[in-house]
Amino acid sequence: MDEGGDQDRQAPGRRTFLRLAAATGGASLLSACGGHGSAPAASGTTAGASTGSAAGVAMSAGATAASGPPTAADWAALARDLSGPLVRPGESGYTTAKELFDPRFDSLHPAGVAYCRNPHDVATSLAFVRKYGLPVAARCGGHSYAGWSSTSGLIVDVTRMAGVSVSGGSATVGAGTRLIDFYNGLAAHGRAVPGGSCPTVGISGLTLGGGIGVVGRAYGLTCDNVTSMQIVTADGQIRTANAKTNSDLFWACRGGGGGNFGVVTSFTFTTHPAGDICLFFLSWPWSQAARVIAGWQSWAPHAPDQLWSNMHLAAAPGGSIPTIGVGGTYLGSVSEAHAQLEKLYAAVGSDPSAPFLESTNWLHAMLVEAGCATKTVSECHLTTQGGQVSRASEYAKSDFFIKPLSSHGIGTLLAGVENFQKVAGAPGASGGIALDALGGAINRVAPGATAFVHRNALFDAQYTTTWPVGSASAAVARQHAWQQSFWQSMRPYASGQAYQNYVDPALSNWRQAYYGANYTRLTQVKAAYDPHRLFSFPQAV
Ligand SMILES: Cc1cc2nc3c(=O)[nH]c(=O)nc-3n(C[C@H](O)[C@H](O)[C@H](O)COP(=O)(O)OP(=O)(O)OC[C@H]3O[C@@H](n4cnc5c(N)ncnc54)[C@H](O)[C@@H]3O)c2cc1C
Repeated sequence: MDEGGDQDRQAPGRRTFLRLAAATGGASLLSACGGHGSAPAASGTTAGASTGSAAGVAMSAGATAASGPPTAADWAALARDLSGPLVRPGESGYTTAKELFDPRFDSLHPAGVAYCRNPHDVATSLAFVRKYGLPVAARCGGHSYAGWSSTSGLIVDVTRMAGVSVSGGSATVGAGTRLIDFYNGLAAHGRAVPGGSCPTVGISGLTLGGGIGVVGRAYGLTCDNVTSMQIVTADGQIRTANAKTNSDLFWACRGGGGGNFGVVTSFTFTTHPAGDICLFFLSWPWSQAARVIAGWQSWAPHAPDQLWSNMHLAAAPGGSIPTIGVGGTYLGSVSEAHAQLEKLYAAVGSDPSAPFLESTNWLHAMLVEAGCATKTVSECHLTTQGGQVSRASEYAKSDFFIKPLSSHGIGTLLAGVENFQKVAGAPGASGGIALDALGGAINRVAPGATAFVHRNALFDAQYTTTWPVGSASAAVARQHAWQQSFWQSMRPYASGQAYQNYVDPALSNWRQAYYGANYTRLTQVKAAYDPHRLFSFPQAV
């Protein structure tokens, strides 16, 4: 993802490889980060839900629906009831307020964006949409691959509820915290929680859909580290969800996907020590790509938990040659990391060209992984948030693999990447695939223990294609068609599962692909907490 500029190429991170590869292939640097009715028993509902502005919520929950859409006066009344700002079309700041991470969603025009400062603001917003029958979407980092954190109705934005508070081995995190601030806030106390790499992704969407990240094999998914959360459900109640209270909701919110069961306002995580960590980046000539894939898949998912790695293959339209790289992290010394990497070299049958391996402090490692190696934490934010990171466009599809790729599968994968060179894509475009090693702590959790069902895979894959803002739509459509065809060609080798955080509107069997055997229980939780489907989008449970 293109959080970084040219200067960041010296220390490539996890998702930096695709753009490096594209540059090598002749393209320029890329941007791609770059109801009412029966509620469940209100155990765990905060007393605050029946006082102050939430008292209005409770009344609205049982009140008769309005006879028409909200008038300007109704919106003004909502603005007065919120402690955070409400931004409406035509008002100053609306253009930025409606933006998601991907500029391809700039055509969406919500009727309002409520920047909620506390759970009561969320409850007030939900009462408003219930009263007027408006569509609603929760929004945190705005990185939904389908734009489902926007709506024609009211966006309930949680980013004003941000911050990290550490106490002992546990951290309470505002639901609006962006990943780079999450890592920074934790590192200040010498603590860590596994998460994704893109610095501007929101903790809410990431956690609710799982959260695959660089130390996941040691510490599990982000959602595996949640011990409790506060959530405002469709009826406006402010609830606690944990192993003892609203435990079914707690189960569903760990992998069931964002936007389905309520608006989370804070998470409590168990934390891990954040000491020094090794980073590595390795590349081989494309002529050895088949051996690298074979070697990597026999090594990465079976390595010690301390070792996490991923493999990127990428190409550019008209590029001379695709690229292949392996990067990752190791929790231990450089010499131990080196010994592990030697096993990969042996499996591949050759050493990489110019291997990069260093030990660094945790926060710097997270900045490198974010593509912000030479940026400060404050610079590692979107330009609209005072930083230097640009928004970016990307199509993504995903797979999980539970068996190693056969030689045919490897050949098909290589052909898919090579084919992108023949696509008449946009100047500066990139296309490729990134495979994340799984196993370790992720797979030691039972598939039904949380809503995240994908606990038996060796690795996941993300098929991506990116293009510079303003590219011709026909060129982008050709890239999209290439991606669909590449993914299709891998059907014989993939498990049929897909990652619910890489939401894919083209996926027809999404219920089975995202949730497998957990889907039925998810529908029961949905019926209990959102019986009138206040929270709805094309792939809502
Ligand atoms: C550039 C990029 C890099 C990524 N890197 C990784 C990675 O390294 N690892 C990984 O696992 N995933 C990664 N992802 C996927 C990412 O985890 C999902 O897109 C995630 O849903 C984004 O969360 P968000 O809060 O930024 O997005 P949003 O668009 O704000 O929200 C996503 C969904 O969650 C809902 N939601 C948001 N806030 C709340 C809330 N408080 N309560 C309830 N529902 C809410 C929204 O309504 C929407 O349906 C990446 C995505 C992108 C675009």
